[in-house]
Amino acid sequence: MSTDLLQILPDPETTELTKANRERLEEIYGRVPSVSCHCDRLGQCCELTEAEMAAEYATMYPLYAVEYWNIVDYLRANFSEDRQEELLSFTEERPERCPFLTEEGGCSIHPVRPLVCRTFGVLRREQVEVTASEHRGELPAAWVASFLFAERQTVCPHTQILEPEKTANHAYQLISFQYERDLTEIGQETDELDQDRQEVLEAATGRRTVKLWTWGGFNVAIRSPLNWMREHFKSYWESATLAE
Ligand code: SF4
Ligand code: SF4
Repeated sequence: MSTDLLQILPDPETTELTKANRERLEEIYGRVPSVSCHCDRLGQCCELTEAEMAAEYATMYPLYAVEYWNIVDYLRANFSEDRQEELLSFTEERPERCPFLTEEGGCSIHPVRPLVCRTFGVLRREQVEVTASEHRGELPAAWVASFLFAERQTVCPHTQILEPEKTANHAYQLISFQYERDLTEIGQETDELDQDRQEVLEAATGRRTVKLWTWGGFNVAIRSPLNWMREHFKSYWESATLAE
């Protein structure tokens, strides 16, 4: 690993998720029904086609801060130093291909993949529509519209649900933003920006913390040299496609 990167990497002793927070994260992930995949090319949903790239689709869907740290811990425990350096130096926000996708179409961080990857292809189109109908009038209209917008785009006809008993609760977690509230709450307890970076972030965005961003975006906020952050962060943030 290069000396430069080592100097700016946060100390593992202080940045690892606590056991309690990891258990909370795993409990949240456990609410999502498991699926098995039966398409003709595994991993096709983890990369963009040329047409999708041109239409500005996003491959690296948002990660919550706690999910970022969970993946960092996994990399530290399971990947070679060279591979860690490669992934922790990755700063693209909309890569054509997810950096964790293997050549064979597998997910190299499968045990710690983020919520957005776990929920992809879980609900059938009719379940999306039924869930929206059931909660119209009871939940804020903006929540229902947001649920429909997101979930209609993440239906996959080639998955099989392995835990159907979890589906109704999962749909409610999505439409009521409960996953988001829970992940944000843990993220607030695992905020790892040091004081200098917090000041740069606040000056550029008016925020003290980053709740939701991309792998590349979190790498920039947490690992870029402070001089670079001071000079470039505002313009970087403004041009970020997936920053909050
Ligand atoms: S979610 Fe769908 S497209 Fe993606 S790997 Fe599974 S079956 Fe294939
Ligand atoms: S993290 Fe894994 S499952 Fe998610 S997009 Fe990347 S390769 Fe696919």
